Amino acid sequence: MHKLTPLPLFSVGARESDQADNLMNEMQIPKERVRRLNSNPVAESGKYVLYWMQTNRRFTSNHSLDYAVQLARSQNKELVVYEGLRKDYPWNSKRIHKFILEGMIQNRETAHSLGINYWSFVEDDLHSAKGLLKKITEQSSVVITDDFPCFIVPEQSNKLADKINCAMLAVDGNSIIPFSQFEKFASAARILRIWIHKKFPNYFLKFANTNYKKEDFLALNKGSIAPFDTFKIESPELEEYLDKFRFENDVQPFKEMIGGRKKALELLEIFVIKKLNQYNIGRSNPNSFEETPVSGLSPYLHFGFISSEEIMMRVIREVTPTGFDLESLSHNKPGDRENFYTRSVAANHFLDELITWRDIGYLYFFKKPGFRMDLADLPDWVNKNFSKHHLDSREFIYSRNEFEEAKTHDELWNAAQKELKITGRMHNYMRMLWGKKVIEWSKSYEDAFDTLEYLNNKYAYDGRNPNSYTGILWCFGLFDRPWFPERNVLGNIRYMSSDSTRKKFKIKSYLDYVTSLETNLDRLFP
Ligand SMILES: Cc1cc2nc3c(=O)[nH]c(=O)nc-3n(C[C@H](O)[C@H](O)[C@H](O)COP(=O)(O)OP(=O)(O)OC[C@H]3O[C@@H](n4cnc5c(N)ncnc54)[C@H](O)[C@@H]3O)c2cc1C
Repeated sequence: MHKLTPLPLFSVGARESDQADNLMNEMQIPKERVRRLNSNPVAESGKYVLYWMQTNRRFTSNHSLDYAVQLARSQNKELVVYEGLRKDYPWNSKRIHKFILEGMIQNRETAHSLGINYWSFVEDDLHSAKGLLKKITEQSSVVITDDFPCFIVPEQSNKLADKINCAMLAVDGNSIIPFSQFEKFASAARILRIWIHKKFPNYFLKFANTNYKKEDFLALNKGSIAPFDTFKIESPELEEYLDKFRFENDVQPFKEMIGGRKKALELLEIFVIKKLNQYNIGRSNPNSFEETPVSGLSPYLHFGFISSEEIMMRVIREVTPTGFDLESLSHNKPGDRENFYTRSVAANHFLDELITWRDIGYLYFFKKPGFRMDLADLPDWVNKNFSKHHLDSREFIYSRNEFEEAKTHDELWNAAQKELKITGRMHNYMRMLWGKKVIEWSKSYEDAFDTLEYLNNKYAYDGRNPNSYTGILWCFGLFDRPWFPERNVLGNIRYMSSDSTRKKFKIKSYLDYVTSLETNLDRLFP
């Protein structure tokens, strides 16, 4: 049995002891990032501090890891990092599994080169995950995990916290500003932007460690052995290993989408060098991923192979080669999207998407944590619309299956759906149009939401994320305002059409791109 002592840590929103303040000062981590998941004390006789890596799947720029390292040092304990993958998560498929496992194989290599005691586990028919985490916590003094506010993570974390005897904490390393720093969720991006710009200087450079070395872990690895079979598959065997799984969804990986940190860093470099300066003018023009000036990093952010701090710093470095000065942040106009961060409008637009638009979804979930959002989360003006227009006649009504098989009358919509199905990505402008049309062409708003959630989370590499829900609900009016004239079915919800997209952009190359994806797919199955 462990000897239990009072926990010398703090709890966000609760009384903080002097001891806790001292500990935090020593640790140099913004305490606003940390939240207690239970009220258990530190188990002094525990052998190790356990970091359960759930969503920040990386050893660089990771606030949870930093916190676990510093806690292990101050308690003179070993550090064990556990990274797992269960087989039964919602929307599971070979596509998602492969992407995560590619990341885990790289993490194992990195942990080995840094001398970190890293235990990875993948559930399969021979190895059950049941009870495993609880078992490894029996030897831990404290458990640290990543604070991710949606999908299976909140429930999974809370369940473990309730079952164990030692303290468990969640660390919010999701963005630049910890989400505890906002009192409530924002009803529009323009509001959150002002809050972010105000708080940004306080958090700039309070970043997670990007430079761990072998020496940092020497005293932290005492060689404890995992009480289970760790995941040992290497890259060349991965395909064969995955063939043994029976996934609920038949969704194949896309050959260009490789999971893990290496690919994330490669994409970031390509974006910064070749695409960034076109971001604000070319991003919305439908085209192939290669031709579109976007980063393609959302799946890598979602699985935590890279952090938004790292992405932001790389972009800032590129556009301010002589050095970045906080004094040069533009505060002339509150919430100035064009000019706030740097003198490059393109970089500012990108950083605004990466920070304001990404954060607005996370903030919503931080204030209302849960598995998902749905139509009940929409503002009153949208609900009034629904009451007025739900019986409107629909020009086209498609079933979920017809949507999934891209069998609508609209060539452009079908192309977007095919892009999603084949590649697991969708051009951002097309994604908005795609969502809007499903609302118009479904028999009810509820059916439309269910179809969008199903398609987005089943096929998109970046699905099952706060931004999946806020992105879908944006199509229904979330974070937006009423638009006029009032339309059939949509009422005052912003309207988008394939015809105006055709007029606004040259869409031929997008259609050709999707045709080429289909053609290449056919070649795989002669
Ligand atoms: C119907 C619909 C569904 C969506 N589903 C998802 C989803 O499942 N997961 C997801 O991460 N995003 C989702 N989005 C938001 C957006 O489409 C993607 O984040 C973006 O296209 C990702 O491409 P990128 O990484 O190349 O972005 P870039 O343009 O390179 O931007 C960099 C990063 O900023 C963030 N970002 C950019 N645009 C947005 C945006 N509009 N909203 C929120 N964050 C943004 C992303 O994290 C992105 O990786 C959805 C949008 C809509 C309209």
